[in-house]
This record gives sequence, structure tokens and C-alpha cells, in this order.
Amino acid sequence: MTVLVDSHSHIYDKAYADDLEVVLTNAREVGVAKVVVCGDDISSSLAALEMGSRHDIVVPTAGVHPHAARDVDGAALDEIARLAALPEVAAVGEIGLDFYRDLSAREDQIAALEAQLTIAAAAGKPACVHSREAEDAIATPLGKYASKSPLPLSGRPAGVMHCFGGTLEQSRRYVDMGFLISLACIVTYPRNDEARRIAMELPLTALLVETDSPYLPPQHIHDPETHVAQVGPVLREQILRDGPGVLDDGVQIHVIQSMHAGRC
Ligand SMILES: [Zn+2]
Repeated sequence: MTVLVDSHSHIYDKAYADDLEVVLTNAREVGVAKVVVCGDDISSSLAALEMGSRHDIVVPTAGVHPHAARDVDGAALDEIARLAALPEVAAVGEIGLDFYRDLSAREDQIAALEAQLTIAAAAGKPACVHSREAEDAIATPLGKYASKSPLPLSGRPAGVMHCFGGTLEQSRRYVDMGFLISLACIVTYPRNDEARRIAMELPLTALLVETDSPYLPPQHIHDPETHVAQVGPVLREQILRDGPGVLDDGVQIHVIQSMHAGRC
């Protein structure tokens, strides 16, 4: 069975409060080895950590999302640094910039990002990065971070560009810096030709998949056959080109369905 990792989820969300066990069982049954559960503030980072202590399949991360950047003070950074140093915490994130919704002031977003990237580099943990409408502004801090992180020197990824929404050219820039590109279900959305182009062009070794559950359910999730028809050819063509990898379109669909159970 293909081994799959959901590289980004928020399954501490109340959408899963009543059926988390079912969701995790379904995920295991279709070959999901690990589900990365990303903190987006202090309390969800602690929730992810606690979930990881109860479920082997769960891999927690810790960080404050750009939407909540205004809340990032010294105490919050101390707590992120404490969590990042724990061996069971796999990454610092979800951190980044969101200039689309601008829920925190841009100066606050940049300051929170830079401070948390410093924590990631010091802890030797990868960064889990959210970037929306901020490709120009985020490239410089990420480049500085990647040059300081010890990870690329030892051949490990400096981080993950989660739910990547930029262009193929931008994705190549991040891969050159040492980041992996994670594709979410937006790869199934009709207007997202660029995500499909990235799925086709980047080597499998540079790609991850994620559900970002409970957000971004796949297009036409109510009609799995239609969904398979859309996402299948993209992934299948890449697998045929590069050989078997972690992606299998049939399994991927099941993962996405099971992770979104209860929402669709
Ligand atoms: Zn997220």
C-alpha cells in the first residue's frame, strides 16, 4: 500500500470534535502513515501536542498564523520556542504572511514571521509557511532563514510552502532555497491551472500533499467520481514520468475524503 503523509491539517478544529477517532481510523485504512497537525496559535499548538501524545499517527507543530500576528508578544514567542525545542514537535508553524485577508497589520505579520523563523533556525526545525498574496514580501525573510537554518546543510528541507498558491517560477525559487512545495485540494479547482502545472513540472521529491482540513475541501467532494477524474490525470502523469512516489490518485482521494468527513 502506498504510504501517504498529510503534510498539513488542523484536525483539532471543532468540525472533528465528535468523530476524530473515525477520521484517524479512515486515514490509517487508506495508508496514511502520518498526519501533520499544525498549530495556528498558542492554544491550538498545545492542542496539537496533546493530540500527538494520544495518537501515534499525529505529528504536531507549533506556531502562530499571520492572522493572529497581532497577538505575538514576548510571552508567546517564549512559548513557541519552548514547544519548538521539544523532540515531538516537528516544525515551527503555521507561520507566514497573508496580505489577502490582512487580519493583522502587515508590520505585525512580518515581525511575527521573522521572530518565529529565528526560533525555527535556532531549534533546527523546519518552518511550515503560509503565504497568500505575499510572494514578494516573504521571499527575503525566507531566504535569510534558509541560509541560517542548519537543515539544508544536512540535506533536509528548510520548510514547507503549505497550500502553495504562487506560480511555477516562484515554486522553483523556494525549492532552490531548500523548501518543499505542498499542494492542497486547490489542485482540483477548475481555475487552478497553475497548481496543476506545478504538480506536473516539479520533481516528486520537491512535492508534498496536504488536506489543510477542515479548510479547502476538494472540488466536487460530493461527487468522488468527478473529483477523481479531475485530479487523477495530473498525478498519474507525474507518477508515470517519475516512477512510483508517495502520490497515488486513488488513495489521495480517499485521504481527502476521510479527512473531510463530517464537513461534506
Ligand atoms: Zn493551515
